[in-house]
Amino acid sequence: MQQTNPQSLQNGKAYMGTQSQSSANNIQRGDPTSSSLWRSGMGQGYEVRTQQTEIHHSTKANKHKIAKAFRTTSSEALCVLAGTTPIVIRTEEAVRRFNLSKGLGDSTTPVDRDVEPKHWPHPVDIAPVIEVQEYEYINIRMFTDGSKSELGVGAGVAIFRRTEFVTQLQYRLDSRCSNNQAEQLAIVKALEALDSLNIDDNNQRTAAVITDSRVALDSIKNTHNHSFLIEEIRRTLWKLERTRWNVVFSWAKSHVRITGNELADQLAKAAARDTDKKISYNRTPKSTIYKELEDEAMTKWQKAWEGSPEAALTRQFFPSIYDRIKAKLQVTPNFTALITGHGKTRAYLHRFKLLGSLECPCGKEDQNADHLIFRCNLLQQQRETLKKETTKLGPWPPNKQELINKYLKQFMNFANSIDFELLQ
Ligand SMILES: [Zn+2]
Repeated sequence: MQQTNPQSLQNGKAYMGTQSQSSANNIQRGDPTSSSLWRSGMGQGYEVRTQQTEIHHSTKANKHKIAKAFRTTSSEALCVLAGTTPIVIRTEEAVRRFNLSKGLGDSTTPVDRDVEPKHWPHPVDIAPVIEVQEYEYINIRMFTDGSKSELGVGAGVAIFRRTEFVTQLQYRLDSRCSNNQAEQLAIVKALEALDSLNIDDNNQRTAAVITDSRVALDSIKNTHNHSFLIEEIRRTLWKLERTRWNVVFSWAKSHVRITGNELADQLAKAAARDTDKKISYNRTPKSTIYKELEDEAMTKWQKAWEGSPEAALTRQFFPSIYDRIKAKLQVTPNFTALITGHGKTRAYLHRFKLLGSLECPCGKEDQNADHLIFRCNLLQQQRETLKKETTKLGPWPPNKQELINKYLKQFMNFANSIDFELLQ
């Protein structure tokens, strides 16, 4: 296996930087070492099984650091505390991401990949993209819009000759397509429609595409953007220029009651809802597929967590991985000791033969997490504070899951206020 060196750490960060930002800031998605594994996945195929044990060990030290945990804490509990997807699940996700980006793997979904460099137009074959603020002098005005909601994804075009309505166009996109794609498809279709208007007088061949999508306009102007629909727009623009069409773009703020704009919006929405309409565009954005892979990884992690024979106590606090990822946790050694039952408590020290008796100095019962949080007399004062703060919001005692989901700050204060030295 490759050694983790600073370079691969860097790559790891750059790679992880492309992730969706949905996870909380303090969450480390994936271990730094996964990048070297990810790269080996590129060259030599999928070597997870053989490397698994080694990786498991090298990353466990990291998670110990993040979770501030004792070395005996199970890997499953460490992952949950650190908010780090277990390496095997993470690697499967990375390999599938890679395969998708290269058009490999088992997916039958068409992916909206960038156009390959060999198909890019030569720079002299690119029509200039001109943006204007006024289009009053333009003959043909084409208002374009996209719409995405839970009802579907649609694109609409309303075409006017000066102020006279000429025609309308509607398209439905696959439900996994994005609003951006719908905006762009509307522009492609508007441009393609120009020829069918049969305007023979060259002086009359002026057209404006009026969109409310700043993103679409900026993407068309951005010469580094080679996504499929943007290249389609460029290709069509070039064809139009060669047939003496003079096309400009204009950005219109949405919802400012421009008739053409509103009409395009209505057309897009109606197309999105119309389930009888055939799908005109079905390439799924990579971002959507990556998000689905992430969700799938999360589901796998949840299943593994529920089925794990380890970490029963930690699971009582964190039954849901999803909730854990959402929570902003600043773990401390005291917190970790209470959550994992590893380190600090007498029950733990006894279990690992570091102490003869596991009874709490309060004399009541064994000193474990439950005893400390809910019953130990020696922590009466701290518990009163916790109780005062939590009973404002719910009954006492809360269960362990509520301590995290509802009262994290208060519970954190409680955990950090415990002086374990005095409890030995
Ligand atoms: Zn006690």
